[in-house]
Amino acid sequence: MIRFEALQKVWPDGTCAISDVSLEIPQGQFCVILGPSGAGKSTLLRAVNGLMRPSAGRVLIDDVELNIATQRQLRQRVAMIHQHFNLTNRMSVASNVLSGLLPTVSTVRALSGWFRPEHRQKACHLLDRVGLSPEHLKRRAGDLSGGQQQRVGIARAFMLDPEVVLADEPVASLDPKISRDILTLIRDAARERNATVLCSLHQIDLAREFGDRIVGMRDGRVVFDGSPADFTDDRVQALYEGARWEDPPAADDAGTQPLPALAAS
Ligand code: ADP
Ligand code: MG
Repeated sequence: MIRFEALQKVWPDGTCAISDVSLEIPQGQFCVILGPSGAGKSTLLRAVNGLMRPSAGRVLIDDVELNIATQRQLRQRVAMIHQHFNLTNRMSVASNVLSGLLPTVSTVRALSGWFRPEHRQKACHLLDRVGLSPEHLKRRAGDLSGGQQQRVGIARAFMLDPEVVLADEPVASLDPKISRDILTLIRDAARERNATVLCSLHQIDLAREFGDRIVGMRDGRVVFDGSPADFTDDRVQALYEGARWEDPPAADDAGTQPLPALAAS
């Protein structure tokens, strides 16, 4: 379970990215954080793995407060999937997946490339699970398509059997068909382990399709919190009121363009 208690983040330049957010996300829930660009989605997610230190309020994972003393231990239970995959492009697919163990393996061992046989086996199993064949293991990660790179990112995230998976716009760089495949993989892998997922998205249709719950954010505040069925067109409009459509970002997978992003005016 993740709990945000009166969380606030004011950046040094005075930008208030998060204003008084209190939420409780039960274990095993797939919770979508939806909102226009600049709403505070990434800032909120980064509070859960200690990459963002709040100005006020607390984040708790299973009733343990995230702070300097607990950060190291809690981080091992939280994995992250990134919009731009964040793989080491010149390293092999296998090494990238194994790097998911880094919070628990010494840097010396990781640099030497020595991992236990059971860890190698687990990496192979996870790659198979996300639909990559053994022939991909030795390929340079940077040579894969965007969709394949995100599959590697998912396998890496699940190496430590995380209790919490943070996915920050995991499909923003992918076309709609691949986006569904990727979100299905994240959802299914999380369900198998009863992991909690906090997934930021800007696509309304994907939020409705994949979220057990949708938390709509705007200007650092929660303006909607409910089930996809409750997220009616009126509520969508309220969330994006004043927003404008902007040009869609370029897709890095072959095929159609991604759905247009919504941006605050
Ligand atoms: P989202 O992920 O929903 O697009 P962010 O969490 O990235 O939103 O940003 C929320 C607000 O905080 C925005 O106004 C953004 O410009 C600001 N912001 C994010 N990171 C920083 C930073 N490191 N320094 C200053 N302002 C920031
Ligand atoms: Mg963001």
